[in-house]
Amino acid sequence: MSHLFANYKRLPVSFLSGSGCWLKGNDGKDYLDFLSGIAVTSLGHSHPKMVEALTAQVEKLLHVSNLYEIPEQERAAELLVETCGNGHLDRVFFCNSGAEANECLLKLARKYAHSKGLPPQVLVTTNGFHGRTLATVSATGTPKYHEGFAPLVSGFSFVDYNDTEAALKALDECCAVLVEPIQGEGGVIPAEGEFLSALEQACKAQDKLFLLDEVQTGVGRTGHWLAAQHYGVQPHAVSLAKGLGSGMPVGAVLAKAELAELLGPGTHGTTFGGNPLACRAVTTVVETIGAEKLLDNAREMGEYLRKRLLALAGITEVRGVGLMLAAVTERPAGEIVEAAFQKGLLANAVRPQVIRFAPPLVVKEQEIEQAIDILGSVLTPARIS
Ligand SMILES: *Cc1c(COP(=O)(O)O)cnc(C)c1O
Repeated sequence: MSHLFANYKRLPVSFLSGSGCWLKGNDGKDYLDFLSGIAVTSLGHSHPKMVEALTAQVEKLLHVSNLYEIPEQERAAELLVETCGNGHLDRVFFCNSGAEANECLLKLARKYAHSKGLPPQVLVTTNGFHGRTLATVSATGTPKYHEGFAPLVSGFSFVDYNDTEAALKALDECCAVLVEPIQGEGGVIPAEGEFLSALEQACKAQDKLFLLDEVQTGVGRTGHWLAAQHYGVQPHAVSLAKGLGSGMPVGAVLAKAELAELLGPGTHGTTFGGNPLACRAVTTVVETIGAEKLLDNAREMGEYLRKRLLALAGITEVRGVGLMLAAVTERPAGEIVEAAFQKGLLANAVRPQVIRFAPPLVVKEQEIEQAIDILGSVLTPARIS
């Protein structure tokens, strides 16, 4: 009998160790990891630079609290501003997860509304996902995540994703928009360029906040530091987490300075957020993405994977950008994922007929070929003669 909460449905395997795109199972099998712990292990498993940096940091110092200066935090923030900041986001707040980063965005939006006399309402989208804390789950546009948790946090207006007309209308009663540039948990659904740019322009014209949830899309996943760069939009702030620490739990908000100023001393905080170990991970991730040209690799390998998936019988559509991809399948995705798992490939059925692929940003062509071989063998079951 397990002493754990039963809130996860787990596959019957555990992993003993990992290297690059590969995991060693306790069943003696090697698994090709095309999920990266849900878009987290961006540098792959046990990247030598991570092992070296984190080992050195553990030996030196783990935690001191935000009562003191933390040079590792300053360094990580400097690098994030240089890369994900895209020339206009210049302040960073560190926390521990994607939901916490979005909580910070939502609290910023409330502060902003009250400082400007705007309605403290935030525009969000149906089928979106922003986390599991009470406020972020309230902002999440998937009704099943709300079941049994009433009363939810109020102050959210929902519109359909990519419905520009409805969004512009609903914006009248809001102070801010919070949207994923590509809906991840919703099934890897990219925003239409027009939807994001219309919202950006309307927010800027009306002095409202254009906020992007880049928890899944950020830090190289789409072949850009931010998916915002892919779309050519400039948000007032973004949330980051998943790939940010390549496995160290860490989240961050990047914001314009005038927005960051709304949260002065004592207004917001976290005990663990931005501790030296987490920040050392962030610095190493950002440096390594740069040094190993992993943005280019994500774009090139993403295109390669897309092309190879599209050529498989049983796949009708491939969606996504860079290495955040999903294949729409003719057969139930759950059955295919299960069969692929048996053959040593990890991916997940993000929707009943949609398989999500998010391999580490270091993935190589040959590993994609191995994944395609496995998928090809399970997509169309061998004919019974
Ligand atoms: C995963 C995810 C979150 C929540 O992140 P946690 O670290 O699980 O709290 C929020 N937004 C998006 C877009 C995500 O993909």
